[in-house]
Amino acid sequence: MSKTLSQLGEFGLIDRLKKLLPQEGGCLLGIGDDTAVLPYTKDKYQLLTTDMLAQDVHFTRRMDARAIGHKALAVNISDIAAMGGVPTFAVVSIGLPKTTPVRFVEDVYKGMTALAGQFNVSIVGGDTIKSDKIVINVALLGEVKKKHLVTRAGAKPKDWIFVTGPLGGSLKSGRHLNFIPCVEQARFLVKNYKPSAMMDISDGLAGDLNHILSAAKVGAQLIEDAIPRHKGTTLNQAMTDGEDFELLFTIPMAKAMKLMDWQADHKAFYFYPIGEITADAKQRIYAKGFTHF
Ligand code: ADP
Ligand code: MG
Repeated sequence: MSKTLSQLGEFGLIDRLKKLLPQEGGCLLGIGDDTAVLPYTKDKYQLLTTDMLAQDVHFTRRMDARAIGHKALAVNISDIAAMGGVPTFAVVSIGLPKTTPVRFVEDVYKGMTALAGQFNVSIVGGDTIKSDKIVINVALLGEVKKKHLVTRAGAKPKDWIFVTGPLGGSLKSGRHLNFIPCVEQARFLVKNYKPSAMMDISDGLAGDLNHILSAAKVGAQLIEDAIPRHKGTTLNQAMTDGEDFELLFTIPMAKAMKLMDWQADHKAFYFYPIGEITADAKQRIYAKGFTHF
């Protein structure tokens, strides 16, 4: 009998689907990073990503419609940021029950366009269908200079591991609905301190760090006390809560120390060092005192 999705899991399913999708058309990086990386101009790549939100899975009808629209675009912009790129053009598809108030849909779009304006994203089309519950899908293009592209696979032993901000409690606090994607931070980093690997934290630090470790076949040691957490959240929540959308990145040690020097006298951004990459790929997320998570 065929396995069900709950037996296989999300990532198990994606692995199975990957086998059915031969990589064609000169795609440089397909399934497995924050965005696909496509051929573009002589010195730039095009980036393509998509994310879908569904009613009662990612949001409820009681939530602010503008915030839902904001989030639907923000999660996509966050994936473009994670590659070191800038977002450019989006298409938006929505599925709506017949009873949906028009005002609700307009408010979703107002939330989206406010954020789009902030990041110079143009929404250039989409699709509309009838469905039992509300679904919103955004597909977003971006671009990045070839020399600025950062994937998940480049982490090397002794690289320092950083995050862009405090973690934990995003869903409970509502931050997941109004976060600003870290494009500026990522652009600053790729221009000045070129990270060796980067991704956005959507599923929780522990799980997402594992994606970088698997892609680069390395391990990591985290310093428990250095992991920045939001007020009122435990270390465990900071490690495992999803939807923070901070960036997780690694930088070779010498450059990491320069970054620390820079941020000692500049207030524009603060990047939190939380540990280092190790050569032993079996060493996964040990913390202070080598207690295992
Ligand atoms: P993110 O959280 O960064 O948006 P996901 O965890 O959703 O990334 O997806 C992981 C990878 O799997 C990405 O490269 C994405 O493009 C790919 N992927 C997810 N779902 C599908 C699907 N249904 N078909 C093909 N590729 C998929
Ligand atoms: Mg991502």
